[in-house]
Amino acid sequence: MLRALSTAFVVLSTLSLSAAAGAQTQGSRRTVAFEGARLIIGDGSAPIESGVLVVQDGRITAVGPKGNVTIPGGATHVNVTGRTIMPALVNAHVHIGYEGYTSWSAKNYTPQNVLDHLRREVYYGVAATQSVGSSPTDASIAFVRDQQAGKFPVASRFFFMPGMAPPNGGPDAILIKGTKELNTVYEVSTGADARAAVQGMAAKNIKQVKIWVDDRRGTYPKMTPEVYNAIIEEAHKHGMLVNAHAIQMADQKAVIRAGADVLVHTVQNEPIDDELMALLRDKKPYWTTVIGLGDRSEACDHDPFVDATYPEKALEDIRAKDCAPPPATAANRERILAANLPKYVANGARLVLGTDAGIDARHAFGWADHHEIARWVRSGISPMDAIVAATSRPATLLGIQDLGSLAVGKSADFLLLTANPLDDIRNTRRIDKVYIKGAALDRDKMAAEFRGEKN
Ligand SMILES: [Zn+2]
Repeated sequence: MLRALSTAFVVLSTLSLSAAAGAQTQGSRRTVAFEGARLIIGDGSAPIESGVLVVQDGRITAVGPKGNVTIPGGATHVNVTGRTIMPALVNAHVHIGYEGYTSWSAKNYTPQNVLDHLRREVYYGVAATQSVGSSPTDASIAFVRDQQAGKFPVASRFFFMPGMAPPNGGPDAILIKGTKELNTVYEVSTGADARAAVQGMAAKNIKQVKIWVDDRRGTYPKMTPEVYNAIIEEAHKHGMLVNAHAIQMADQKAVIRAGADVLVHTVQNEPIDDELMALLRDKKPYWTTVIGLGDRSEACDHDPFVDATYPEKALEDIRAKDCAPPPATAANRERILAANLPKYVANGARLVLGTDAGIDARHAFGWADHHEIARWVRSGISPMDAIVAATSRPATLLGIQDLGSLAVGKSADFLLLTANPLDDIRNTRRIDKVYIKGAALDRDKMAAEFRGEKN
């Protein structure tokens, strides 16, 4: 199966060589000065209210307040007064490849579909996207190589990590159908197996690994401390980071104590306690909340921002089965999240954007990023902290040097917004243009492609 997938990737690469001309590899070669916009840098510093951003050959070459920036002669001047520019987003947690919008299965897992998901992410302003634990390793390595070689049309940069679980453990009910069929999760039952698997990943230059630790309220085999301690120790020996799936407070404490680098999921059934907060202060793990998947789908709301990229049939299906009013338990969950989120952050959890998109069309690639960011703010995170957690911090986590902030030398990947997200975080949706390597995407054409419309 893996061999077949790799072959398919090679075929796609060859076919798309001519079609891929443009933005991903070259970007814009002109020098462009964007003048007058509010610049949100992405590192948490105060915004520049009337700024200048100079882009040359797809890179940022100057940034600062108007009057402080020398614009090179011959530059194209673009007046963006009244607009806001912020860095493109980075999503550290999705499940790419299986979603088909009108179907969901391992059969959908083709390089074309991986590319489709990455193009949906970039359409919504996400410049890099990491698939966590569910991607076939060798096919993914081939895809990354081909994308870096410029063989695909413009898309979010693809990152992935393998997953590890006890035999017959791993992802939740839906995702596991795909990972089982493609045999993507490394199933390990002893410390020695675990170390050997991690060594194999390190040999392939893989930088992160995902582990499923908890037993989903008794329905899954639980990863033993012997195994996760071995994984974490071996991974750290090779400079790899460990992402740990744990939804219950006791499991979160256990994996943080064991040294997991990235905490996946949020305790949302009880208030977090002093012991967990002390562990957060001590270890300061990165933290992908992936809360949105548990929310009512925004596809129920008839919001053009969300609907623009769905095939009509997919919207009809979601609205037929997933748009009941929120259950009575939703208010309680909301209260706990509003209490817990600021506590996680205040105690040192390093919040990073992740959405879990790809498991179900009701919570899909791209718009789900904006959903997650807005719901953080609804639960007490400031808009500025939310933007940092969606830009520079996940870029650091993924080891991406040239994304995440508006700074000299970075790739010119940014959102041009018609309203200020520091006033209302939902303004991250007011996208006029998305620039990747200094070139604006043709978003209308892309949306038509996602809806399945022929030109
Ligand atoms: Zn996930």
